[in-house]
Amino acid sequence: MSFYKKRAFRPRTGFFKFTCCTGCGFELAYFQKSLEETLRSFDFTFFRLASSAGSPEGPFDLALVEGAVTEPFQIIELKKIREKSKVLYAVGSCAIVGGIPAIKALSPEIEIERAAYKERFFGLSSTRPNVIDDYVKVDGHIRGCPPGERDLEEALASVLLGKKPEFIEYSVCMECKRGGNACVLVEEGLPCMGPVTNAGCGALCPAHHRACYSCFGLMGQANVPALKGKFRKLGFSEEDIERFFTLFGALEPSSTLI
Ligand code: SF4
Ligand code: SF4
Ligand code: SF4
Repeated sequence: MSFYKKRAFRPRTGFFKFTCCTGCGFELAYFQKSLEETLRSFDFTFFRLASSAGSPEGPFDLALVEGAVTEPFQIIELKKIREKSKVLYAVGSCAIVGGIPAIKALSPEIEIERAAYKERFFGLSSTRPNVIDDYVKVDGHIRGCPPGERDLEEALASVLLGKKPEFIEYSVCMECKRGGNACVLVEEGLPCMGPVTNAGCGALCPAHHRACYSCFGLMGQANVPALKGKFRKLGFSEEDIERFFTLFGALEPSSTLI
């Protein structure tokens, strides 16, 4: 089985999903037109979203894993994926910082379950998001919700070239300034999370006069106290500020993301 057109040598690749909206898979399979040529270099032997054929058994040269870990059986599955894969990338904010499923770590989880599903949903109890890194060694993080094209291309090209990927490791503000956008935090007093958010989206929201809400997750060594102080000066309540910083996961920026 193969989703993409055949080439002479292509790394055997599996795309795996845990708890999430599947948006990262959609992005890769259907919306990254500029990546089509790169994707043809991979043999997607397991990609349930793209084809019901194929097997998750492996072995794989590359495993792409989206979604957070919220159920005990997922830990076992994830470890098996790691064992049979040479390279494993976590894909998207759910897998890397908890994303939307991280709400279970912010409120008594039973309340979340009852409000949303009227039944038990999250089997894995925790006071923090359960991300892929908690359970297996990860070779790289393709950030975003869904991921940006630049890091996706870097991750895939690195597998083809047999090199370590170099992901973006600076804030959205850098991209925003490069794009010549007016600062919505300074000029309009909007609660922009750009100063603490990992770049990769091209400062999409500020470019459209919207505040960044940190869907790429906090970057390493983010100055969280400084931005919280700025938000307080702008008149935002502690409750608002907490919400801004936990919308896409509740991990501290000191978490060991590479
Ligand atoms: S990171 Fe965003 S797009 Fe990807 S699965 Fe999670 S919610 Fe969906
Ligand atoms: S608009 Fe947001 S991302 Fe852009 S420079 Fe201002 S704070 Fe940074
Ligand atoms: S500007 Fe912020 S919220 Fe908007 S896409 Fe980029 S990281 Fe996500």
